[in-house]
Amino acid sequence: TVRPDKRAEDLRSPDVAVSLSSPEKILFPESGITKQQVWDYYNAVMDWFLPEIEGRPLSLVRCPGGIDGNCFFQKHATADMRSASAKPPKTSASLDADTPVVHSEDDVRILVQFNTLEFHPWGARAESPEHADGLVFDLDPDPGLPWKEVVRAAREVHDNLRKASLASFVRTSGGKGLHVFVPLNPPVPWSDAKPFAEAFAKTMVALHPDRYTATANKAKRTGRIFIDWLRNGRGSTSVASFSLRARAGAPLAMPLAWSELGRTEGGDVFNLANALPRMAAWSTHPWGDYRALKQTLRHSD
Ligand code: ATP
Ligand code: MN
Ligand code: MN
Repeated sequence: TVRPDKRAEDLRSPDVAVSLSSPEKILFPESGITKQQVWDYYNAVMDWFLPEIEGRPLSLVRCPGGIDGNCFFQKHATADMRSASAKPPKTSASLDADTPVVHSEDDVRILVQFNTLEFHPWGARAESPEHADGLVFDLDPDPGLPWKEVVRAAREVHDNLRKASLASFVRTSGGKGLHVFVPLNPPVPWSDAKPFAEAFAKTMVALHPDRYTATANKAKRTGRIFIDWLRNGRGSTSVASFSLRARAGAPLAMPLAWSELGRTEGGDVFNLANALPRMAAWSTHPWGDYRALKQTLRHSD
C-alpha cells in the first residue's frame, strides 16, 4: 500500500507553476470581488501571511460557489487537493495523514485555486501537534454591545496576562470581535494550555461578572462578552492573521499594535480593499518578532 503522504510527494511536480482557473468567477457577489482578486490579495500579502500558517495543521473554508453558495469548513484535504498540495507531515504519527499543511507559497496558491477563502491554523506545529505554541482568547461580544467595550475587554485581557508575566497581541477577527494571542515558547502540552486558558477566562469573569462570561451559552452572553477560551484545545483553530473571511465585503483578520487599537472601529473594518494600503508602509509586523519571545506556562499540578 502507498501511504497518502508518499503519494502526495510523488505526484507533486515542482516545475509546474500553479495556475488559476476561472479568474472572473465572482466570489463576493455584493462587492463583485472575483477569484482573481482573491488570488492577487493572497499573493500580495504572501510574505506576511505564509509565516502565520506555514507548517501548521489547517482547517479551510472553501466557497466554490462564492460566499452566498455552499461554503464548507474542511479539516481534511480531499483527494484532488492531496495530489497537489496540503502535504501532511511525515514525522507526526499523531496527526491524520490528510490534514492540510502548507509549506510554500505555491501550496497557498493551490488552496486558493481550490476556492479557499479562510485559513484556520491550529495553535501547534504539524511536527509537534500535542504542544501548543500559542493561546488565543477569542472575544465574542453580545451583538448589542458598543465596540469600545470590546476594546476595553482586550486591554483588560492584555493587562491581566501581563500580570501573569505573559506578553500578548491583538488582532481583528474579520468578524464581530477581537482575538488576543499569547505566544508560547517553548510550547506546552495541551493538558497545560487548556486549563490555563479556562482558569484565566474564569478569573476575568470573577473580576467583572457583569461584563464577561466564560460559557458559550447565548443567554448568559446578553450584555456581556464571551471570553472564548475553547480555542485552546488540541485540534481547535483560530483564523490566521491576514486570512480573508467568507463574509460580505471580504473582511479579514488584521494584527494591530496595541497603540492602534483605540483607533479601530470594529472587528471587520479591515478588508481586501483597504488592507494593502495599510500594509504597504510596513517594515515590521505590528506584533514584532513575536515568535522569538521566550515565554511559556509553568507546569501546574
Ligand atoms: P467573530 O469575531 O465574528 O467571533 P471568529 O473568527 O472569532 O469571528 P468564532 O465563531 O468566534 O469566529 O470562532 C472562533 C474560531 O473558531 C474561528 O476563527 C474558527 O477557527 C473556529 N471555528 C469557527 N466556526 C467553526 C466551525 N464551524 N468548525 C470548526 N471551527 C470553527
Ligand atoms: Mn470570535
Ligand atoms: Mn468564539
